[in-house]
Amino acid sequence: MATDPRRSVPRVDHVLADNALESQRRLLGDPLVKAAVADALEQCRQGTIQPQDVVAAVLASLPADATGQRRVLNATGVIVHTNLGRAPLSAAATQALITAAGTTDVEFDLATGRRSTRGRGALDALAAAVPAAERVLVVNNGAAALSLAGHTLAFRREVVVARGELVEIGDGFRLPELLTASGVTLVEVGTTNRVRLGDYQEAIRDGTGFVLKVNPSNFVVTGFTSSVSVRELATLPAPLVVDIGSGLLQPHPRLPDEPDAETTLRDGASLVTASADKLLGGPQAGLVMGRADLVERLRRHPTARAFRVDKLTLAALEATLRGPRSPVARALDRTAGELLARARAVADLVGSPAEVEAVTSTAVVGGGGAPGVELTSAAVSIDERYTEALRAGSPAVVGHVRNGRILLDLIALEPADDRQLADAIAHVIGMQASEPRT
Ligand SMILES: *Cc1c(COP(=O)(O)O)cnc(C)c1O
Repeated sequence: MATDPRRSVPRVDHVLADNALESQRRLLGDPLVKAAVADALEQCRQGTIQPQDVVAAVLASLPADATGQRRVLNATGVIVHTNLGRAPLSAAATQALITAAGTTDVEFDLATGRRSTRGRGALDALAAAVPAAERVLVVNNGAAALSLAGHTLAFRREVVVARGELVEIGDGFRLPELLTASGVTLVEVGTTNRVRLGDYQEAIRDGTGFVLKVNPSNFVVTGFTSSVSVRELATLPAPLVVDIGSGLLQPHPRLPDEPDAETTLRDGASLVTASADKLLGGPQAGLVMGRADLVERLRRHPTARAFRVDKLTLAALEATLRGPRSPVARALDRTAGELLARARAVADLVGSPAEVEAVTSTAVVGGGGAPGVELTSAAVSIDERYTEALRAGSPAVVGHVRNGRILLDLIALEPADDRQLADAIAHVIGMQASEPRT
């Protein structure tokens, strides 16, 4: 006689009292664990799992932490991928986040017991990394830096900017609208492809707050083009704000055309703004660097408080600046030969020679940096029918589909991730192999 599975379904409180689940409740909180228990009990009621397997099923279904964000192996060949959270943090920055998660002296002088400058350590580290900056400020992101510059230096005044530099950053956000929303009137000069110093000279008048130069960081204009250099713009009778976007602090040999903060300030910019989570390889933040009087005005402006960064960001930024090379910097250093050797080793680890190929590929910086620069890289290539299964794994793997194949590019992965990548590939290929043929 078959027993009714419902009769042997364990009671919720019995399952929750299990030692292993107790510790998960302390780590993840009750709601997550209770929902997983309810799920497992429902499966038990339907007979798809046995009563004695309920706890194991709950443990297997629980996330590693209480966030819905899941770890992703970035095998896209885009080093700074905005949809995957831009720059991954270094181990040093990750450790700093843990320290900063508690109460800290972020704005307190432990020697005197008095209030102190918020995030002093991060500001000092940034100033040391960019000697040409008289003073620095850290805000929430690149857009906040620009908005604060607009509010402070050009509210109800004019900002002169080349028409070809009025870019859309992404997700529908456009720099001209951001600036206009900061109370600025834009005076566009030149045409989409060309602008000359004389165009700026004619546009500057008493009501000019500053001249803005934006690095078009996500596209290239080729052909009949001209723009005006920072050195030339610095001769104009108005402050010069340069949004370099990608956050290189010093020149990078592999990205010769990418502007950096140090050179831009030496060339005469009054202020440079940038993001911290692109080529700098740090947490999301906006950097403002340059003339002491202007930075100080931005810092004291009422809106600055609305753009203030938290202690986690300050800690991770400081550790990025002072610590070992960031994962983004390391990715930029990888050579084609080294990457191809890794791709071959991953293919060997997977061990399905008919399915898996190691190939050369082309990677990009991405995320608003070095547009048009192609980096020779290497990838593991498998049939594109595995794409969804790879995304569903843990960690999820996101690659780049091309000509019926999915390329799993190694440039943005640490060598320590290769084993997990191989396991993920072997898993999806194995899953397919074990499915009944139709
Ligand atoms: C990325 C970028 C921004 C926006 O910076 P966020 O940190 O994303 O706010 C602004 N300007 C340029 C040139 C950029 O490349």
